[in-house]
Amino acid sequence: MTAVAPAAARRERILQEAVRQRLLDPEQSLLAGFVDLDGVAATARALHDAFPRSPEVPGALHTFAAKANCLVPVLRELRRQGLGCEVATAGELARARAAGFPAGRIVFDAPAKTRAELERALALGVTVNADSFQELERISRLLGERASRSRIGVRLNCQVGGGAIAAMSTATSTSKFGVPLTDPGNRERLLRAFGEHPWLTWVHTHTGSQGCPLDLMARGVAQAVDFADQVTAAFGEGRIAGIDIGGGLPVNFADDEVTPTFATYVEQLRAHAPGLFDGRYAVVTEFGRSLLAKNGFMAAYVEYTKTAGGRPIAVTHAGVQVATRTVFGPDAWPLRIEAYDPNGTARRDRPVRQDIAGPACFAGDLLARDRALPPLRPGDLVVVPDTGAYYFSTPFHYNSLPEPAVYGVRTGADGQTAFTLIRPAQDPWHLTERDGVNVLPEDPVPAGAGDAR
Ligand SMILES: *Cc1c(COP(=O)(O)O)cnc(C)c1O
Repeated sequence: MTAVAPAAARRERILQEAVRQRLLDPEQSLLAGFVDLDGVAATARALHDAFPRSPEVPGALHTFAAKANCLVPVLRELRRQGLGCEVATAGELARARAAGFPAGRIVFDAPAKTRAELERALALGVTVNADSFQELERISRLLGERASRSRIGVRLNCQVGGGAIAAMSTATSTSKFGVPLTDPGNRERLLRAFGEHPWLTWVHTHTGSQGCPLDLMARGVAQAVDFADQVTAAFGEGRIAGIDIGGGLPVNFADDEVTPTFATYVEQLRAHAPGLFDGRYAVVTEFGRSLLAKNGFMAAYVEYTKTAGGRPIAVTHAGVQVATRTVFGPDAWPLRIEAYDPNGTARRDRPVRQDIAGPACFAGDLLARDRALPPLRPGDLVVVPDTGAYYFSTPFHYNSLPEPAVYGVRTGADGQTAFTLIRPAQDPWHLTERDGVNVLPEDPVPAGAGDAR
């Protein structure tokens, strides 16, 4: 028998305990998400350790991109681990505040910030990265009306190109994000903006995300450092306070190995953008997926199994509502699936090819197609690893499918697994409250009554 990897053994332990405590139950609780809070803390430490800290080079401010997992207890854990928070909407800003992040450790990036959102951010003293020349003008007018403690930067689109997933590539020549630095005239226009606006003291870039090679990301950062150097040359030392290099470290969805690591990325940054670490510029980062993805999984019951056209299909309770990207973009976002018996013990029978389907009413609602797995049976559990970011924390309300419960998991010194509720499951009978209607579950209809015959 091959040895079980520690991460897989840990999932199995958590799953068994969740079944024992009936956090997963074939009648009551068909789907749940789990966030390994010890794992989150360890990943945050790895991030801190990867970036240089010395008397000459103060440690970076690492912010967590809230969109990757915006659940307040998760944000709170990251705050305790010394991170700040990157937000892109009023809703994410509200969550960051609720998690206790001080305004000075919140960074507000977004391409469509409203006047009211900017006013609020500037009043709070949240860092703002402007996305366009028009936004810079809007900020300039707001600062004319009222002073602010906010640090203000501008997002550069360094136009270094895209990665394997077009939707995740933010530094293509026509990307909607930032000021496109290599478009004719823009570099000069942006330099003039720095000349006109003494409050403009940061540069920001985020080259992209899943699917982007590390050297592409590092080359994007190198362009941002280069531009900062140009501002410094034009207006003097100290004119640029810092560089926000964004996030985007890709995640390995193929197995439990954490690769690439933050340390590998820092090596690439040192090679391509050595000026980032020479102590002239403060550094901010905005990682999301790489901090959370591998620290979360979801588990769902198999309700039925069937065969169609010769192919076995397991119909489960996890589908498009919690794996939206995978369902709509299965080639770009493949996920692993693991098979467990009703007690949460890994099934080890000989694999057969089968489809793993979700509960929603469209044919494409599949977690995996033609996947070799031990034969699943009704009442079994499927586990979907690597879903701590952008999956169950970001539910899609198709078919009025409710949001599943999410639990935080910690392992005590005694080896005991302890759960905390991070988000309660939505009760389907209360979904109509959002429509202004309260419906109570109907009394059971007596057998035979009202049947159409
Ligand atoms: C989404 C996003 C991030 C985080 O990206 P990850 O790939 O999750 O690390 C960081 N910065 C900005 C501006 C983003 O839009």
